[in-house]
Amino acid sequence: MSLLSLEAVSVCVDDRVIVRDVSLNINPGELHVIMGPNGAGKSTLLAAIMGLSHVRVCGGRILFSGVDITHFPSYERAKLGISLAHQVTPTFRGVRFLEVANAISSRFNTDWRTLASLLKVEDLLLRDLFSGFSGGERKRAELYLALLQNPRVALLDEPDSGVDIDTLRVLAELIDYIVFTQGTSVILVTHLGPILEKLPRITRAHIMVEGAIVYSGDPSHVIPVILKHGYTRGLEVFGGEGG
Ligand code: ADP
Ligand code: MG
Repeated sequence: MSLLSLEAVSVCVDDRVIVRDVSLNINPGELHVIMGPNGAGKSTLLAAIMGLSHVRVCGGRILFSGVDITHFPSYERAKLGISLAHQVTPTFRGVRFLEVANAISSRFNTDWRTLASLLKVEDLLLRDLFSGFSGGERKRAELYLALLQNPRVALLDEPDSGVDIDTLRVLAELIDYIVFTQGTSVILVTHLGPILEKLPRITRAHIMVEGAIVYSGDPSHVIPVILKHGYTRGLEVFGGEGG
């Protein structure tokens, strides 16, 4: 039995079908990458796995350790061990980062200091959350909060966008560590090459276009083709191969 299974999941926002018939199986300690052009539905898919209220599963089902969580609220999913680092961080006012971090780490019984040092957010912890943070600082803070929950499945939505090259290396090393040392499962959404080149052990790569996963395969095969040719021509290269 997989840790996380999507069985022909479709996701609607209002009455529009944004994601269609996506099936995925994620086992413990696997790193899955989802790539795809802007607007493909990647963030919507992650929102549906997390159970965010602006999206609705309008077909199929989501299983976690064999339990049907399709209609669980997001806090129940967080308790089970699913966490999401958003692509665009929400805005808070007057909430100290350290207070949020302490609340999460005491609830999930995690070591906030070590992770803070790894992600270099110690100085940020003294400030109001996300307030005046640069793009890279936001990304590190968001990832910090997601990983502080010690998740069994971490959904990382473009953690690499807008971060500098040094931070990129830190992110890649951290992702590699949580997957292959801690056994956390990760779904990483990205459409940029640099982070992928720094992740030597990706389990599987999926290409999402117009709401559907149109190709899945061996990352050492899929990623170079997409990075070289882009999605449209890359998919022609794979054409009919199956995956
Ligand atoms: P990606 O993350 O792959 O760039 P998204 O999942 O953000 O794509 O968006 C997929 C499609 O769903 C887009 O056409 C987007 O406009 C639409 N969409 C996403 N969220 C909402 C929302 N809250 N309301 C209306 N449309 C949305
Ligand atoms: Mg997105």
